[in-house]
Amino acid sequence: KPVVAIVGRPNVGKSTIFNRIVGERVAIVEDMPGVTRDRLYNKAEWLNHEFNIIDTGGIELGDEPLLAQMRQQAEIAIDEAHVIIFLVSAKEGITAADQEVVNMLFRSKKPVVLGVNKVDNPEMRDQLYEFYGLGIGEPFPISGAHGLGLGDLLDAVVDHFPTDLEVAYGEEAIKMALIGRPNVGKSSLVNALLGEERVIVSQIPGTTRDAIDTSFTKDEQEYVVIDTAGMRKRGKVYEATEKYSVLRSLKAIDRSDVILVVINGEEGIIEQDKKIAGYAHEAGRAIVIVVNKWDALEKDHKTMQRFVEDIRQEFQFLSYAPIVFLSAKTKQRLHLLLPEVKKVSENHHLRVSTHVLNDMIMDAVAMNPTPTDKGKRLKINYVTQVAVQPPTFVFFVNEPELMHFSYRRFLENRLRATFNFEGTPIHIISRKKN
Ligand code: GDP
Repeated sequence: KPVVAIVGRPNVGKSTIFNRIVGERVAIVEDMPGVTRDRLYNKAEWLNHEFNIIDTGGIELGDEPLLAQMRQQAEIAIDEAHVIIFLVSAKEGITAADQEVVNMLFRSKKPVVLGVNKVDNPEMRDQLYEFYGLGIGEPFPISGAHGLGLGDLLDAVVDHFPTDLEVAYGEEAIKMALIGRPNVGKSSLVNALLGEERVIVSQIPGTTRDAIDTSFTKDEQEYVVIDTAGMRKRGKVYEATEKYSVLRSLKAIDRSDVILVVINGEEGIIEQDKKIAGYAHEAGRAIVIVVNKWDALEKDHKTMQRFVEDIRQEFQFLSYAPIVFLSAKTKQRLHLLLPEVKKVSENHHLRVSTHVLNDMIMDAVAMNPTPTDKGKRLKINYVTQVAVQPPTFVFFVNEPELMHFSYRRFLENRLRATFNFEGTPIHIISRKKN
């Protein structure tokens, strides 16, 4: 079962929140000296996710100074928990001790969800702004006293629970899903990647069935091919309906880090390819576009260029995705694929420091002034990256309505021109802050 730990300064409300989360099961947490470790664990549940939760505030740490105590709490959380709730208080704001502990948590690479307690009424939400400065993502406003906001906080917590694939293969393995309409050569490509004829290739469209994931290692990087069912088929099974295959693709996308959108180079792009690519884009995963059956084309020196133009034209929303031309059958250019997959996966995790980000945005605004509407001009006050996978940026602006589509696009283009976000979507959120 996943373990969640709550870390934070004394008096930010850890025990109150802890009790709220475990519900009726424990009435009070005793701050007794000598509390044993297992007694710190409590069972909790959220939306069918069962987990254990530790209140590190309940750990007796003796008479050490506050910062030393907090460091120890953080160490325990880092050792024991899958997800850490870092709790601060809207009443007291951020202290140096908070910042130091956050740095420790951040270095540990454990997922941290930031809860801002004592936001007892909506007006206090304005104070959330300061907590972005901690650099650990979006603050979740909660009120332990009134039991508000816990749902959103817990949603974020369970989102970080390791997936079945992470449990099975670890965080570092790159999980990839191959999607594309029947017969584009997904099975053949998996076969080629696995380097052996483990899979029977058939010319009958849609022979995919029960889910099997397959892992392999190349150049010291582990990859997992998701849902290679049917790619390792035993018999000839037709996909029952088109809907079924979409559902299957969506499931695979859901479990993936990187999506390979496979296109049949022999036939070119059709409407169905666009739909499939659309799903991939919306999922926020890293993407590589693969043009398969490159061997089957009559080529001249312009064929590839023309194909690239076609793809860029038809998949405008995927302008960030690199394109790899290859043949699963002859294996020509196949060696180009995995390095590309690895690269986009890295870019999907890319983090930009707030300072560099704000400098860059200031330059961008100087280059192309912000839009105006009814005499008002958009003003960008501060920008910070709140998440990776995909990189997500919060822009604090005077009037979020003034952040028009075209300006958003311009900002995204500047971000892409400055940092290496090839292969990953970027999310831009605007929030009001004067
Ligand atoms: P899937 O439905 O997307 O899994 O497609 P398959 O892998 O079953 O391939 C469909 C057909 O395309 C089979 O007849 C394959 O032999 C053929 N095929 C797959 N990859 C290539 C390729 O790179 N070149 C050529 N010429 N044919 C291929």
